[in-house]
Amino acid sequence: MAAGSPEHLDVLIVGAGLSGIGAAWHLQDRCPGKRYAILEAREDLGGTWDLFRYPGIRSDSDMHTLGYRFRPWTAAKSITDGPSILEYVRETARDHGIDEKIHFGHRVVAAEWSSGETRWKVEAERSVDGERVQLTCDFLWACSGYYRYDQGYKPEFTGEERFSGPIVHPQHWPEDLDYRGKRVVVIGSGATAVTLVPAMAKEAAHVTMLQRSPTYIASLPAEDRIATALRRRLPERAAYAAVRWKNVVIQTLFYQLSRRRPELVKRMIRRGVQRALPPGYDVDKHFKPHYNPWDQRMCLVPDGDLFRAISDGEASVVTDEITTFAERRIELASGEQLEADVIVTATGLNLLFLGGMELSIDGTPLDVPSAMAYKGMMLSGVPNMAFTVGYTNASWTLKADLTSEYVCRLLAHMDAHGYRRCVPEVDPSVTEQPLLGFTSGYVQRSIADFPKQGSREPWKLRQNYVLDIRTIRRGAIDDGALRFEFAYAGSEDGCEPSDSSRPLSPVSS
Ligand SMILES: Cc1cc2nc3c(=O)[nH]c(=O)nc-3n(C[C@H](O)[C@H](O)[C@H](O)COP(=O)(O)OP(=O)(O)OC[C@H]3O[C@@H](n4cnc5c(N)ncnc54)[C@H](O)[C@@H]3O)c2cc1C
Repeated sequence: MAAGSPEHLDVLIVGAGLSGIGAAWHLQDRCPGKRYAILEAREDLGGTWDLFRYPGIRSDSDMHTLGYRFRPWTAAKSITDGPSILEYVRETARDHGIDEKIHFGHRVVAAEWSSGETRWKVEAERSVDGERVQLTCDFLWACSGYYRYDQGYKPEFTGEERFSGPIVHPQHWPEDLDYRGKRVVVIGSGATAVTLVPAMAKEAAHVTMLQRSPTYIASLPAEDRIATALRRRLPERAAYAAVRWKNVVIQTLFYQLSRRRPELVKRMIRRGVQRALPPGYDVDKHFKPHYNPWDQRMCLVPDGDLFRAISDGEASVVTDEITTFAERRIELASGEQLEADVIVTATGLNLLFLGGMELSIDGTPLDVPSAMAYKGMMLSGVPNMAFTVGYTNASWTLKADLTSEYVCRLLAHMDAHGYRRCVPEVDPSVTEQPLLGFTSGYVQRSIADFPKQGSREPWKLRQNYVLDIRTIRRGAIDDGALRFEFAYAGSEDGCEPSDSSRPLSPVSS
């Protein structure tokens, strides 16, 4: 994409991660006439699965639901490692020619909707020379994930400067970090910490997971035996669909049970942890959270690897508060001291909406927190724009796929009726609620910067795949909340239908 030569697209996808590649597949399949491109800030595709390089990086949901609906996951392991997920995304892009549509090294910094021209004017910064390039598009589709890529979240710890070993954040893992035979302390209790601890314990002298408070942790087999058996008996696609549905149903029921009968689920999880750990282990101190299951995202460990590392004495859990770092140790509020050669701060992400893009409508900057999310994928008052954000209580891709299906249906609907503009408009009787209900620190830190959800459909975020199939896959496009308009670019009375013969310059970085 050359500087100074604005080009026009029917659809611009921002981000070439799992969602962006899935979005492109759907566009090609369902709206084959649309000219589109993907702008990707980084130099490679895969997003999360390319960025994170820490030991043991893996999914914490099964690949039958984290995989795309349209592309069966066929490997034996259902909970799998990051490089395998990256390869799956790469293959999808390669097999469908999507990789040829990606402009790497282009960070979208701003997009302005022009009502006069009925299009978005998009500005992207090229990483190679820092230059800004412009393009225009009819429809803007943000598949930019949900967190900052340049910086993970790390609180300031007292005395950090006194620690003489490396302090590492999992989001910025140094390739050459040597922790063999060393004492490692991993600070945190989330998905990343519970992944890192057993993985690092294989080579470290000892790994301590230091947490301020516990998280719910459940163990699942890495390999799904039913999936393996079905793959032998059924055609690939049928087996995949069957296992995907099995997992959707189990996860939905478990989530609903957690919300309706939290005490029962607490007991079930506790029993599982207790069985996996040696007799006499203080399960309540280290594995009994102060909140209800699914008030925060639940952690999953494949084949109980974390519990095995603890049982084998390779790893341990300490639940305490940090008072200060010292030269080779961490001092705790209880008076205990943890000797450490390496400290890993698995303290989380910084959430970021729309990949940091500044949106404006006819020159007025969009105040994102005052907008309401429509079906969890469009914004009130923002024309011709969608964003893909997955579920928090189930695999991301379930919602990402539904979003893609919806956007394609919406585009087809607009084409069929000759509409040039669609915009969600909130009924004033709908009341505002926070977009996410999680009590986790990373959500609470940033939720004020996110749009709201509404008290009822189509503004309410269901976080429920089965219900969303009804409303998103099958529901009417013209539902009264989306306003459609015939507007034409180029003249006041509107005259210029989309000209799909305009050339698109070659893909370049
Ligand atoms: C360590 C980790 C493990 C996870 N494990 C799971 C799991 O097991 N199951 C699950 O369901 N979810 C999981 N998630 C959530 C995960 O992020 C999603 O599953 C999924 O990978 C998100 O894909 P995405 O394409 O929407 O976003 P991302 O993977 O974040 O990709 C977004 C892409 O957009 C690009 N981008 C962002 N802003 C811009 C911009 N302004 N201009 C141009 N490009 C931009 C980024 O560079 C990136 O390539 C995990 C997240 C993390 C961090």
